[in-house]
Amino acid sequence: MTTTSSRKGALSRVWPEGTSSAAAFTFDFDAEEVWIGEDPANADRPGVLSQGTYGAKVGVPQILRVLERHGVHATFFIPGRVAERHPARVEEIVAAGHELAHHGYTHTSPTKLSRAEEEAELVRGLEVLRGFGAPVTGYRSPSWDLSAHTLDLLLDHGLRYSSNLMDDIRPYPIEGRPLVEVPISWILDDAAYFWFDGASWTKSIATTADVRAIWEAEFEGIRTLGGAAVFTMHPQIIGRPGRLAFLDSFLSFVTSHDDVWVATAAEIAGRV
Ligand SMILES: [Zn+2]
Repeated sequence: MTTTSSRKGALSRVWPEGTSSAAAFTFDFDAEEVWIGEDPANADRPGVLSQGTYGAKVGVPQILRVLERHGVHATFFIPGRVAERHPARVEEIVAAGHELAHHGYTHTSPTKLSRAEEEAELVRGLEVLRGFGAPVTGYRSPSWDLSAHTLDLLLDHGLRYSSNLMDDIRPYPIEGRPLVEVPISWILDDAAYFWFDGASWTKSIATTADVRAIWEAEFEGIRTLGGAAVFTMHPQIIGRPGRLAFLDSFLSFVTSHDDVWVATAAEIAGRV
């Protein structure tokens, strides 16, 4: 009662006038790099890589059409090497007004790199992305995992927010540093339900009805608590035809809530 309602009141002041929670649609545009990151030998396996190419070739253009239909601006986290391989796609993302954000140069977890290697990845990825003329202020690691150096390196190179941690449902200032965390969760990640890898057949492929039920419940829960529902999707996964129809109707569902502020990850970070 009073505790819950006053807590909600305090939380909802975070969001713009007239709204009391937020939602962000974020896309990790991994393309071929995620497969090479899984196993460098995949670089010589066109069949494996083609799963990632689908994201660039078919997934992104179709996702851009769906986003445009709903007037939603999203955030695309992109490895530098994906942007080098598919520059036209990145130009289309920028031209449509979406946010570009950092997702490594290669798709390598910072925990597998030395400090110098991690910094080289960060710098090279930033150079490539900033070459598209859009501001790049956010970083999501290729594994949602941070090394002991990551936060300092983000600050050294002018980044303003991280979107990697799972300890909250709304953005918060990272202690001791002028950086904001825009928290994520596995429950709102399409890969948790749809990621299939031919090398490990133990994984199953969920139906969109399953995912809709889970996402709607989590979205409503976060909305009630005045948080930010940060959805993480991958063009090669959510961009399959049956799932595009799900994305389309799910966007209708989320945007039908007038009290929910639909924003980019950078805009959400900017509320802190
Ligand atoms: Zn990724």
